[in-house]
Amino acid sequence: MGTLFAEQNDPRQNWGLTPLGPDVPKPQWKPAPIKQPLKTRLKSLSASGESLLLVKDQKPCAIVALPQNANSSSRAAAEVLQHAFAKMSGVTLPIVAEDKVQVQKSTFVADGQSYEYLLSIGNTQLAKAAGVSADDLIMDGYRLQTKGKVLFLVGQDKEPFSDAAGRPLPESGSTITRFLQANGTRNGAYALLERRFGCRWLWPEEAGGTVFPKTATLMLKPIHESDEPAMAQRFLRNYYPEKGINAYGRRQQQTVLPMLHRSYSSLLQKAKNSGAWFEAMKLGTSVEYNVGHSYSGYWKQYGETHPEYFALQADGTRNQTAHGGSADRVHLDVTNPDLIAHVAAEAIAKFDADPTLTSFSIAPNDGSYPSFCLCEVCRRLDPPNGDPVSFSIVGKDGKAKRIDYVSLTDRYVTFYDKIADIVVKKHPDKLLGAYAYSTYSSPPLYAKLAPNVFISYVGLSYFNDEQRQHDLESWDAWSQMADKLQLRPNALLGAYGIPAVFAHKLGDDIKHAYQTGMIGSDFDSLTHDWASRGLNYYVLAKLLWDPSQDVDALIADYCNTGFGPASPSIQKYFSLLETLTDEVAKSAGENARDEDAINPNSVRGVLSLIAKTYTPEKLTQLQTLLDDAKKQAADNPAALRRVQFLEQGIRYANAETAWARAYFAPSSPEKKQRVLDALDARLAVLTDLYDNHFYAQSIFMPLYREASMFKEYGWDPNKRNEQRRVAAGL
Ligand SMILES: [Zn+2]
Repeated sequence: MGTLFAEQNDPRQNWGLTPLGPDVPKPQWKPAPIKQPLKTRLKSLSASGESLLLVKDQKPCAIVALPQNANSSSRAAAEVLQHAFAKMSGVTLPIVAEDKVQVQKSTFVADGQSYEYLLSIGNTQLAKAAGVSADDLIMDGYRLQTKGKVLFLVGQDKEPFSDAAGRPLPESGSTITRFLQANGTRNGAYALLERRFGCRWLWPEEAGGTVFPKTATLMLKPIHESDEPAMAQRFLRNYYPEKGINAYGRRQQQTVLPMLHRSYSSLLQKAKNSGAWFEAMKLGTSVEYNVGHSYSGYWKQYGETHPEYFALQADGTRNQTAHGGSADRVHLDVTNPDLIAHVAAEAIAKFDADPTLTSFSIAPNDGSYPSFCLCEVCRRLDPPNGDPVSFSIVGKDGKAKRIDYVSLTDRYVTFYDKIADIVVKKHPDKLLGAYAYSTYSSPPLYAKLAPNVFISYVGLSYFNDEQRQHDLESWDAWSQMADKLQLRPNALLGAYGIPAVFAHKLGDDIKHAYQTGMIGSDFDSLTHDWASRGLNYYVLAKLLWDPSQDVDALIADYCNTGFGPASPSIQKYFSLLETLTDEVAKSAGENARDEDAINPNSVRGVLSLIAKTYTPEKLTQLQTLLDDAKKQAADNPAALRRVQFLEQGIRYANAETAWARAYFAPSSPEKKQRVLDALDARLAVLTDLYDNHFYAQSIFMPLYREASMFKEYGWDPNKRNEQRRVAAGL
């Protein structure tokens, strides 16, 4: 047992700033090996049977049958089909439990009505009798098969955990709202509508983003196909509240909404269907890859009984809360064998208690103070040649200072490996989750990672080519150490929702990551900037299901199905936007490093690049392309409405860049007034976007992230509103 009162030469007590690890060279970058091929799992077999007439001359010819105790995925599938067919044809097909259907001669009778065809959804007795099942498919997979006058839709489903009111419960131990479930049957319904009826979910239906081709007759040709997702975890965090449950961005939203004099409950109401698009795109997760910062309770629990578990600080103690350290962000003495045994025992106990649990997080906490352990035993693992990092220490004088050190990855990988070595003996098929992030994001130089540890890699940016290249190389190196990787980018948060297209780069990265070992994704976060970013979201979601798909084909399909006659102009519009996005990414360097823009210098860096690149002339060019598109779509109201939806992105970009240009203009006597006027004008646009174009553009990132910039000018949105009201005599 370690002790705080050791003799002088105890290396555990020997605090220092010199890395003492092996002097190993930095390995040359090598391309990551291909671990899984880019190959679709969609299987189309030759289909028998006749064509099924669902609707003829605005009369229903088919009935939808569910098993008697249908699960939520089957019920949702039936409703999705009923809704889409009604939107397309104006006819609502009835949904009934299968025991209410009688087969008389060759028709199906329910409620005294007879129908020629039947859609059997889920594991009905009929499907069993016909030998149609999804048993051979993985979670979330589905099968569509016609036989005689029946379409069978079956899928691999897993019900979400629910509370007493039937609301899904978020994953255990996760700080984000993520419901563990599988919806193969529901996925099959969306696939049928997309592949056979031309329906699309380009953006949320409430904002006109769903394509339902109009037709008086609905017919389904014989079909026999199955499909499965490439990965069990296809997760994009939903920034908005979903199903009445507070989602990821709550703190930011509650800070920003008072600036518009809007309440958080107004957001709960507006966003109540914000999860629907995610369902339509077959996103979700059927496995729990636990990789949270996992030692937040340790100080409270073991601070007194096991001080030796904790990182040695510069003041010679292991006290994690002295000098303003945060009790839930403690760091550990990760070479302490007792600690390693303790964490391994915790993992084993968890796996013993819950056989369904697939993984347990052993990832360190984030945060830069209290400091990481700088005892001699830990430092013996840190190679002096490692990438530079910095973090904070507080010495005996109580003063904080930032120190330069080397990457801590090797010591952490050693820690993971030692825990994994113990756990694997009891639970050989379970996984341990760890982050590649912060001071331990660079790949290790010499330490070897156990095969039962998966790494969640935080990286990738689409507004900074240099960073993207660096991150891709790190990914490749990690891919050579870790069997399994999760991709956890902050990339969708970049540049505050300014209109941008990075679908090709994103597509390349997803394909590459998948081939080199990606087992799941967790993107932070889809911020609902649909007018400005919707194409990226769409391509991303499609590729997470099947990364073998061609990005150009997906973009062309998005434009053709969504914009009809205006497609050529819209394709030019996206192409010009992609050029602008690339220009920003090319010129961004150190000044605009953090794509998630937590660093205020980075916020200014990115914004100044945007102001320089998205000039009034470029924005006019973009608007001209949309004007052309509006003319071309004049006779197609749905397409026209979608072009007008995209226009909201340009409107936002004009307001945002006008304020940025005022801010970055050289000093002058008029500057302050110009900045304040631009901020007022932007606030008016943002308020209108929130009230009247909710899904076109999210207002939260610019108002939250740029707060320190407008505070420089003493701009207080609440006071400005008040002043305007007084000026207007209200
Ligand atoms: Zn140590």
